[in-house]
Amino acid sequence: MPKSGIAGRLESVDFHAIGVSSDAKDNPFRITQQQLDQAAEILKLDPAIHELLRWPLREIHVALPVKMDDGSIKVFQGFRVQYNDARGPTKGGIRFHPDETVDTVRALAAWMTWKCALVDIPLGGGKGGVICDPRQMSQGELERLSRAYVRQIGHNIGLVKDVPAPDVNTNAQIMAWMVDEYAFMHGYNEFGVITGKPLALGGSVGREDATGRGVSLTVREAAKILNLDLNGARMVVQGFGNVGSWAAILLQELGCKLVGVGDASGAWVNPEGIDARALKDYVKKNNGLAKGYAGLGNEIPAESLLETPCEVLVPAALENQITEKNAARIKPRILAEGANGPTTPDADPILFANGVYVIPDFLCNAGGVTVSYFEMVQNAYNFYWDLDTIHERLEQKMVAAFHSVHEMAQRYKVHNRLAAYLVAVNRVAEAMHVRGWA
Ligand code: NAD
Repeated sequence: MPKSGIAGRLESVDFHAIGVSSDAKDNPFRITQQQLDQAAEILKLDPAIHELLRWPLREIHVALPVKMDDGSIKVFQGFRVQYNDARGPTKGGIRFHPDETVDTVRALAAWMTWKCALVDIPLGGGKGGVICDPRQMSQGELERLSRAYVRQIGHNIGLVKDVPAPDVNTNAQIMAWMVDEYAFMHGYNEFGVITGKPLALGGSVGREDATGRGVSLTVREAAKILNLDLNGARMVVQGFGNVGSWAAILLQELGCKLVGVGDASGAWVNPEGIDARALKDYVKKNNGLAKGYAGLGNEIPAESLLETPCEVLVPAALENQITEKNAARIKPRILAEGANGPTTPDADPILFANGVYVIPDFLCNAGGVTVSYFEMVQNAYNFYWDLDTIHERLEQKMVAAFHSVHEMAQRYKVHNRLAAYLVAVNRVAEAMHVRGWA
């Protein structure tokens, strides 16, 4: 007998027929579908819109022949997923990673859809990936791979279609090669086709610290709601790369004291406080790693870092750090998810029951895509803004997004992650509805 409701719809599509890479419980694409299903239930979403939102609208699978330095040809596999463009052109980064799967890319593309809707920028969600190990490749091989990828997807991206950006293992230089290849293919410069470019090629001021700045702005707003004085508030930061270091510096400027920090080289606590700016300078000169900096304090086991007592905890490294195994011991007042997916779905109810105020990832780290959108706008006008304008507009977007989530959480008496879904899914669904898609 056919099942009704969500369970019935789940079975309406043969997962294997669309090339899903794994049935595992932690398949990120399945997790995104479950999160959507929860929101759809509460919003009483039109069933056709719900079904459409469970799948990418379009995806491109490409094979990329690349001439290696030894003269051989190696064929790489890549993807570009355009998850949903109801609110505007799709937007999302490109990852180069040996463990990339189409499902990771689909999940990240779905999350970009919700993130762009949440900060209310007129863009949909997309993501790209190439299965490769950049650490084993020379600069020349990376350049040829980047250009080959754009040759394959170049007619399907563009300022009004789909706009890639850097992500794991890709950077401003790679974006510059891609913009250049796109210009050769089309016969004109369209810098807004890709964001995260170098300043010399239409990049935006204020992009470097945008994600960390967004983290600090959402923490500031949460502290107001909780009546928490940030002056002297203890903070712990896991991951001291782009997001973690800027979040730490900007929260320090708001009065927080960095009492714990960790990265790939270790974890440390120091009740006297660690100077975030001086640590960033050290890390920059030390291959990106904190180990060896004099003011770090006592080294602790890496897995203890997140359990360090503090008011503000910022995971800004990897996914799946807060799980059902350690969630009960993690009790900051504010958990500001700088990283993507640092908390597993099993851990959420535990944090919620313990009164931890979670600022969910696709709200907390949305500062980056917001300034990327500003980069697109500047490229489209070929007129560039100053840093104060970027900061002011970023603040407006982040504060508005934060309060839309907080109000939704109050209204439906749900935790902030579900509230963020309710705001975002509702906005995308409304655009689909008025466009007449369902
Ligand atoms: P990054 O590479 O600059 O920094 C990553 C940091 O994590 C480094 O300090 C590294 O040493 C540390 N790290 C790596 N393995 C670790 C481990 N096992 N334990 C503890 N620390 C470890 O990366 P980033 O750009 O700062 O991104 C961090 C997270 O934020 C990722 O989840 C990313 O997807 C997310 N994010 C980044 C941006 C952005 O604009 N950069 C935007 C949105 C979300």
